[in-house]
Amino acid sequence: MLPEAPVILLFYSYLLASVTETKTKKEIVLEGVAASDGIAHGPALVYLQDELDVPIFGIEDNEIEAEISRFDEGLLETRRAISVVRDKVAASLGEGEARIFDAHLMVLEDSALIDEVIGAIRTTKKNVEHCFNSVSQRYIAFFQSMEDEYLKERVSDIQDVSRRLLQTLIGRSRPNLAHLPSEGIIVSEDLTPSDTATVDRSKLRGFITDMGGKTSHTVIMARSLRIPAVVGLHDATEQIKNGDYLLIDGYEGMVVINPSEARLSQFSDLADKHRQVDAIYNESLGLASETKDGRPVALMANIEGPEDMERSLEMRADGVGLYRTEALFLRDHGYPDEAAQYEEYSKVVKMAAGHEVTIRTLDVGGDKTVGDDSVKEDNSFMGFRAIRFCLGNPVIFRTQLRAILRASAHGKVKIMYPMISGLGELRGANEILESVKDELRVDGLPFDEVIEVGAMIEVPSAATIIDLIASECDFLSIGSNDLIQYLLAVDRLNDLVADLYQPTHPAVIRSLRAIIEGGVAAGKPVGVCGEIAGDAIFASLLIGMGASSLSFTPSLMPEVKYFVQRVDSAAATRLVDEVVQMKTETEILEHLEAYKRSILGDLIVASNL
Ligand code: PEP
Ligand code: MG
Repeated sequence: MLPEAPVILLFYSYLLASVTETKTKKEIVLEGVAASDGIAHGPALVYLQDELDVPIFGIEDNEIEAEISRFDEGLLETRRAISVVRDKVAASLGEGEARIFDAHLMVLEDSALIDEVIGAIRTTKKNVEHCFNSVSQRYIAFFQSMEDEYLKERVSDIQDVSRRLLQTLIGRSRPNLAHLPSEGIIVSEDLTPSDTATVDRSKLRGFITDMGGKTSHTVIMARSLRIPAVVGLHDATEQIKNGDYLLIDGYEGMVVINPSEARLSQFSDLADKHRQVDAIYNESLGLASETKDGRPVALMANIEGPEDMERSLEMRADGVGLYRTEALFLRDHGYPDEAAQYEEYSKVVKMAAGHEVTIRTLDVGGDKTVGDDSVKEDNSFMGFRAIRFCLGNPVIFRTQLRAILRASAHGKVKIMYPMISGLGELRGANEILESVKDELRVDGLPFDEVIEVGAMIEVPSAATIIDLIASECDFLSIGSNDLIQYLLAVDRLNDLVADLYQPTHPAVIRSLRAIIEGGVAAGKPVGVCGEIAGDAIFASLLIGMGASSLSFTPSLMPEVKYFVQRVDSAAATRLVDEVVQMKTETEILEHLEAYKRSILGDLIVASNL
């Protein structure tokens, strides 16, 4: 049964009233952390609540009345909560803004809906959450089928209120971003990498979050997907309502609520300028990856699966310097079997067509939790993460190693272990690798017998004993995102300490130099695959220190390549000598920025960026 017509018509009138009000809204500017380049605008899709896992269970005849009382109480509590928000909004932004909450309240007072739910509890003898959810889903489907685009979009309001009531009834879990109600900008307290991995990309124009820093995995994914993002806004979810029109500037970390026409046109000009500069950068893509004086520097891609690999090919990356394999696990919310992993890895390896693909073994833990097995830890970045998790779960590790080794039969594959902190872990992982190789030989399955194995250097202990680590592996790759967080004791996700996450801190600079020099002294190539590798400010410094490759999200390739082609390697060495003498992060940052300007100056001035 569909909702009754008079109820719907009344509901329309409130919604239409709120359309008229949108024209007079005030502009509000919020400042956050610039997380992923790009300018976007569109309606806000606010995700305050977590996805609700709606339980379903049967009830006895004598429990029916109690179940109906639960429903009544839930309705009351939710109405009370919405009224409080409504009054706050009315006081701060005016009656017009508050009107949408009247529409929300109406849904909860709709007698047809309430009677239907009660009827369903009595007839199906199922719990209230399940009955309410089924009825509200029908309402949602009804509004979704409307011709009127605006009203169709307001489905999200009904979803909001339904979610609120379900939350009251059953508690919280996580947001479901796989089915966005319309195109728009996600506004959330926080997003997890699995949210980003499953988000409906066709409708996502950008996202902003209250929490988060520049190197959270969510942000890294946004950058690789070229989704403009601003994070660390503290209270955006309090200031922004579902449906508010937003403009976001991912270059500068700015968000404008209800942007004026003038502001939108100013940003459209800015976006044009960025496009012009991008077109100039793009011209570098067909040229060799080498410095001005001809020193080769492999410019590689960080990818998370076959889709990114396409982008990497488009950007003519010299290979894959970091294949983060977690996306497959996050997408599946569990542990894919050997066949599924083999299929995905070999697809990427074949796409790479002879270029090397460095596959990193599973780096779960930290901000990436997989399946139900994931351990909840207070201090997860310091906990059962990455290689620690793999060594503690040998079946999962062996399955992945088998899949990677089998994929190595199709091209040039390298294996890389994350978060190595000492030789014990490196040897432990290599022992398992050797035993998996033996198993494959017995099974008669082909793999690259001389596959290279490397360690990520992202824990200060490994940096300190770099000579020892380098002597027992084929290559090193600096994971600067983690290295910086562990070196400076600054959680890479925590917006409260985001300003202390300083890649130009002298301790970071000295560590980078020690690692690269240590690796080179041991005759092992050292690459960098953390976010600094894709930042032109660092590219010259890392080249000057002797890094042989830089690996970063493919979308940054044009800019980094353009820059590297203009760096003189002798000047880069001098730059390192100058910077290591400096005492503060600000001094170093300013010096590196000045160097970048000295190379890109004309471009920056011409584009007025
Ligand atoms: C790093 O830590 O720099 C890195 C590349 O690994 P991730 O960002 O996936 O932790
Ligand atoms: Mg890392």
